[in-house]
Amino acid sequence: MHKYRLISKKGEGTFSEVLKAQSIKTGKFVAIKCMKNHFNNIDQVNNLREIQALRRLSPHPHIVKLIEVLYDEPTGRLALVFELMELNMYEWIRGRRTYLPEAKIKNYIYQLLKSIDHMHTNGIFHRDIKPENVLLIEDNLKLADFGSCRGIYSKQPYTEYISTRWYRPPECLLTDGFYNYKMDIWGVGCVFFEVSELFPLFPGKNELDQINKIHNILGTPPQKILDEFKSHASHMEINFPPKEGTGLEKLILHVTPEARDLICKMLVYNHEERITAKEALNHPYFKDFVDEASRRIPSPVSKLPPADTAAGEKTKEEKTSNKRFLPLIGKNPGSKNPSYTKISMSLENKSPAPKNYVTAIKHVSPYGQKNFKSYY
Ligand code: ADP
Ligand code: MG
Repeated sequence: MHKYRLISKKGEGTFSEVLKAQSIKTGKFVAIKCMKNHFNNIDQVNNLREIQALRRLSPHPHIVKLIEVLYDEPTGRLALVFELMELNMYEWIRGRRTYLPEAKIKNYIYQLLKSIDHMHTNGIFHRDIKPENVLLIEDNLKLADFGSCRGIYSKQPYTEYISTRWYRPPECLLTDGFYNYKMDIWGVGCVFFEVSELFPLFPGKNELDQINKIHNILGTPPQKILDEFKSHASHMEINFPPKEGTGLEKLILHVTPEARDLICKMLVYNHEERITAKEALNHPYFKDFVDEASRRIPSPVSKLPPADTAAGEKTKEEKTSNKRFLPLIGKNPGSKNPSYTKISMSLENKSPAPKNYVTAIKHVSPYGQKNFKSYY
């Protein structure tokens, strides 16, 4: 029996197609992210960084909620069932000709920073912050698409070609993978600019054009930063003739001085000096802001150890550390039906305020239940 009625297409990303669907049992609408890749076995599914990160970061008012994971072993198809959101941030600003009210932007940026702070505090960075991965429903914002995330404490260098070009910081563009969690803040800065000005800040046509677009506005980086980049760059010659740059402030004159100051602090070349999510939340821009969402739903405190190996590509250390992530999927070894009918454990009944994340999962796990097999 099918569990969901498919209604329409909701979105498409590099790795998936997202469909709007309705639960036949409850009538609730959901978003089903159908992965384009196929998966050979349960272990591969369990190792998926998107699933691991979501388990670590949930529940949180500003992280999209994963309801369940559907895996059909005979075909290798995988689908993630999420709460349904209304639209993404790009769709929100697309085609707009008049500036959005500051209060609306402030509300969304605050929530975005909350999600980033939560993620960074829990040892994960996203690596693909962009308007398409930020989902909205009425006044609420939730961060989505954890498919590129990594553990903050995992060893550099990382993969070079991650994140969408326009939102990629200089240290990503110019080094062989020597970037860190601060890259998410650069992404937030670009998003903040884009929703304020209604056009993208650095719409590079290719890698070189991307670097040039940044230089045109911010100027070439100071020598100290260039030297730092050079020491980690084997794939390209870093030798830019010094350039002044038009200045970022001049492009955002219509926003308040506080907004302007915060955007500029997010787009600092030196990632060590770039503002953190926590500092940004305490910036004067938010001094009159009332955090309604966090008042309603208290943010849970993760008791897990730092995610130094939580969600990245599988290095040796990471493979061994995966043991602390409980299996997420049950399988029905008997079924031959190729449709998504073998439903994994549901995450919906998770106890509301888990003191200890691991205990909470054990508590709701249907392992031992008929047709489900444990994968400890
Ligand atoms: P990918 O990893 O392939 O980029 P995403 O998770 O970013 O996939 O989803 C692709 C698009 O689908 C998003 O940009 C968004 O428009 C839409 N989408 C994703 N999740 C949801 C959701 N829970 N509710 C509504 N729309 C969604
Ligand atoms: Mg995406």
